[in-house]
Amino acid sequence: RSITAEYTERTPRSQEAFARACRSLPGGDTRTMTSYKPYPTYFAEGRGGRLTDLDGNEYRDFLANYGALVHGHDHPALTEATTRQLARASAPGGPTPLQYEHAERLIARVPSLERVRYCNSGTEATMWAIRTARAFTGRDLVIKMDGGYHGTHDWAEVSPFITGGTAVPQNLSGLPDAQLPRGIPSVVADCVCAVPINDLDVIERVFEERGEEIACVIVEPMMGVAGGIRARPEYLERLRSLCTRDGALLVFDECVTFRLGTWQARFGPVPDLTTLSKIIGGGLPIGVFGGRRDVMDIFDPQGDAPVYHASAFGANSASLAAGCAALDHFSGEDIDDLERKGNRLRGLLEEEASAIGIAATAVGQGSLTYFHFGTGDPRNAAETTKRREGREPLRALVHLALLNRGFATAKHGLICVSIPTTDTDIDRFARAYGSVLEELR
Ligand code: PLP
Repeated sequence: RSITAEYTERTPRSQEAFARACRSLPGGDTRTMTSYKPYPTYFAEGRGGRLTDLDGNEYRDFLANYGALVHGHDHPALTEATTRQLARASAPGGPTPLQYEHAERLIARVPSLERVRYCNSGTEATMWAIRTARAFTGRDLVIKMDGGYHGTHDWAEVSPFITGGTAVPQNLSGLPDAQLPRGIPSVVADCVCAVPINDLDVIERVFEERGEEIACVIVEPMMGVAGGIRARPEYLERLRSLCTRDGALLVFDECVTFRLGTWQARFGPVPDLTTLSKIIGGGLPIGVFGGRRDVMDIFDPQGDAPVYHASAFGANSASLAAGCAALDHFSGEDIDDLERKGNRLRGLLEEEASAIGIAATAVGQGSLTYFHFGTGDPRNAAETTKRREGREPLRALVHLALLNRGFATAKHGLICVSIPTTDTDIDRFARAYGSVLEELR
């Protein structure tokens, strides 16, 4: 029996739901990321570290909504804080104390944050961080990493990891063409350049040629969608010193790495601006951008000619209440324990692969793990692409076969441990992964 046949036998209700969804949604889904063949599993509920689908099948949750949750599902304190606030007002139409209560919690944890502003998603947070840098510096040019994922607004989607668009020349000598997904105007490539992460020569050259035109460099300290690629410490330090030298702002996108307690707090350096989202909303939509006080003061609505930033549901009280509870239940000990569990998972996955003679690497940090075929850590997005070449069908089958064995993971390869994940869950997951690899071999 094939993996796909087993999947369809176990999930008839998901199949029915998908057929119905296709009548109102193109391809039956709204999030491209959550769609896969033959159809995605439809989840009915989550409890702690478990998910249940429409057919009643149970899954250990190593997906954690693509890293956006860390407390599991239905955490009593988060549920209580959310429902209590919903019963009061989710969006009263003016500021509430929850706004500064949440902000104070973030500022206490994240070294670069002196002032913050709220929006609704990571996409909005990075869009606004870029706008902030442009407004503050009066410059247009943005440097991002090739394959870096910062959400789906136009400035972020130059040379994303997953592309299907056109190649447009970048206006910097020696850099490959920018890849623009369909729908993004080619003029965007005039003021956003994508450089390979961890390449000191390229970044030096870019600053040599255009340093005084650069508004900001935006970087995920560990690239997520591109496969858990860690920025080398010397690379981040060089970005820091080049930005300082030429008056550009350094932006860390820590939407995902907040799961580690933030990269800047763990490893440095301190950027000028930081973007956050996902777990800081305790399961509800949220986005934050913030950083240096002198930079963020451009938004001061009481000041002269402030930069206008508005959003009907920005800083909504339900997200802030859930987010305060989420931060109060995400301690240093939790982060240390996630680190231990992540290390254990990575070790076991590599052991399983080597026991059956498959060359593989489990990379990542803390609760975030990415599995790659082949040895060694990929150094940049191009290396991840090369490592995956010809293996996409295999990776899709691993994902489906894990679902058949009762484990939910992200189809792009992210494997998350969360607060409710137990050591037994991790052992079982690693054994299941090994047996899937064996079956596919
Ligand atoms: N930045 C990073 C590093 C992300 O991984 C994501 C989403 O996965 C985003 C930004 C965009 O966040 P959102 O999906 O909330 O728009």
